[in-house]
Amino acid sequence: MARAADLELASVTKRYGDTTAVDAIDLKIKAGTYCCLLGPSGCGKSSTLRMIAGHESVSDGDIVLGNDVVNDLPPAKRGTAMMFQSYALFPHLSVRDNVAFSLKMKGVNKVERSIKATETLKTVDMERYAERLPSQLSGGQQQRVALARALVTDPQILLLDEPLSALDPFLKIRVRAELKRFQRELGISFIHVTHSQEEAMALADLIIIMNNGKIEQQGNPRDIFNAPATEFVARFIGGHNVMPIDGRKISVRSDRLSVGPGGTAGTPATVRDVEYQGTAVYVSLATESGLDMMAIVPERTFYARPFETGETVSVSWDPADIHELAA
Ligand code: ADP
Repeated sequence: MARAADLELASVTKRYGDTTAVDAIDLKIKAGTYCCLLGPSGCGKSSTLRMIAGHESVSDGDIVLGNDVVNDLPPAKRGTAMMFQSYALFPHLSVRDNVAFSLKMKGVNKVERSIKATETLKTVDMERYAERLPSQLSGGQQQRVALARALVTDPQILLLDEPLSALDPFLKIRVRAELKRFQRELGISFIHVTHSQEEAMALADLIIIMNNGKIEQQGNPRDIFNAPATEFVARFIGGHNVMPIDGRKISVRSDRLSVGPGGTAGTPATVRDVEYQGTAVYVSLATESGLDMMAIVPERTFYARPFETGETVSVSWDPADIHELAA
């Protein structure tokens, strides 16, 4: 069984020539955490993950796994493993041989390899497919084999770089739930790179939001959603209206805005667009001062008094729902 370990990054920096991809980040991930590195393309997520994995050298700072500084250890000696996309499976090898492959590289003998591979396939509920080729499996099953292939070395931490990006939307949600379940059962940390805030919210105990090589905010999904620290975070996670008011910046959640008939109390605005989304209706608004806003209105509330595109309305919110953003 895998031994779980804490991970710490101390002032870790990655430079490629003149580019600083990761800029002195400090980070602690307790053993057994589902951690998502979240941010737009180019913010330094993959570089961070690859330094933890040992696939990229550290320009400055330390990576500490358990009690050991692992900066100079090769990937296979660190206690980490990287899960690759399912299309990286070897097409000509059986499921069992795919899973046993990294043990073969480590010089483990054939009998032991086979036993360990079968045991690992059991962990991901795939032992009955051991003799098949990857092409004889569904997309979701292939993804489980890719997971087993990473878990077979008993990593203390599993690293995943955009693991769901190649899957269709339905499969994405199913595999996502499976990853979370396996992480809980294994009790080790998963560090998962994604640019999807929805994916991060669904999976993570700890979200690390990165921007320009720095950590913009970290915390559990609910704390981040309810208290985005900066304008960047409020805009990136979505569901918030960012407004400059009296020389400061504030945000109000889209689902906390009230839309009333024009002339009632509130800020006058024009309805730009109305999008039906089932449980709620998304109302895009533009205020007279040119601010774009979004109100998410429960379906029943909206249809009790529907608004049409082009209509003038009044937008209001409870002062208790105003959240201050750092400058
Ligand atoms: P993300 O995973 O968030 O998209 P990356 O870590 O891949 O971000 O990249 C961060 C920055 O480092 C980007 O500006 C990218 O162009 C640059 N970068 C990444 N890998 C290399 C490399 N091998 N050589 C030079 N620049 C790189």
